[in-house]
Amino acid sequence: MKKYNIGVDLGGTKILCALIEEKTQKILFEVKKKTKKEKGNKKIEAKLLEALDELFSKIDVKKTDIDSIGIAVAGQVDKKNGILVNACNLECSNLELKKTVEEKYNIETYLANDVEAATISELLYGAAKDYKDVLCVFIGTGIGSCIVINGQIYKGATQSAGEFGHIIIDSNGRSCACGAVGCLEAYASRSAIENRIKSSLKSGKKSVISDIADTNNISTKHIKQSLDANDELTKRCVDEAIEYLSNGLASVINFLNPELIVLGGGLIQGIDEIYSKIVKLSKMKALKLPSSKIEFKKAQFGDYSGVLGASLIKNFEKKCQ
Ligand SMILES: [Zn+2]
Repeated sequence: MKKYNIGVDLGGTKILCALIEEKTQKILFEVKKKTKKEKGNKKIEAKLLEALDELFSKIDVKKTDIDSIGIAVAGQVDKKNGILVNACNLECSNLELKKTVEEKYNIETYLANDVEAATISELLYGAAKDYKDVLCVFIGTGIGSCIVINGQIYKGATQSAGEFGHIIIDSNGRSCACGAVGCLEAYASRSAIENRIKSSLKSGKKSVISDIADTNNISTKHIKQSLDANDELTKRCVDEAIEYLSNGLASVINFLNPELIVLGGGLIQGIDEIYSKIVKLSKMKALKLPSSKIEFKKAQFGDYSGVLGASLIKNFEKKCQ
């Protein structure tokens, strides 16, 4: 029996790849490469192979003991053919990653969207283990989500289901990174909070956040510090995001009637009080019957959910057949 899998998390700013022991799900070795300046098909492909080469040079494991390589990408993926169809933040399109990686290393290779991979890790080993009807929502720079129905990931007619962040909540509202107007993501993501704080500061409002952070670069850590200091402005912007997010989640609870919602991503992992307020408000706002059964849990794998989930794509697909 093969003992290992390789997981790769191909993100907008870094590539993380790791050798993972199948039995324990332990990360034995990892390689991290920055991808900030490299964009476009050729450069991303070269950087990915460089990271994998480095991983192979570090590990003392026979290639024949490695069952699969899984790649999680922040973008639209054709899973069947292993093609990265489109990834805006990597400036890649129609990149045949499965073919390239399989030809070079002669190991079966699988591709999935990063949110889907994170969901797979939570389903098989994390917060959603033993649950069948689940929604996973990851809140950070943007809002990603993945729908699980009867233990299987629901992708829809064009493989794009689960765009919780692009539910339109205000037709005359803020513009969203996707090009539409009034999406939830423009109201409830970390970037949305950051933008609200920035525009309030510009209009002359005061906040301790301008003492602790470069206001062009406000992180979750800065938001937390500012909340801990009882900063009124930060509190107002965060509460506004929580209000919108709980509206969205209550609507989804009513619409899908899941048994579990897993919340993850930087904003959730970084600030406990955001998580507890969202849970309380979402349950309160949802209809009585679906909210009587709903559970909430925090995602378990944090920064490693992408690599872990990627290494599990093959196993998960086998399980779903
Ligand atoms: Zn949008």
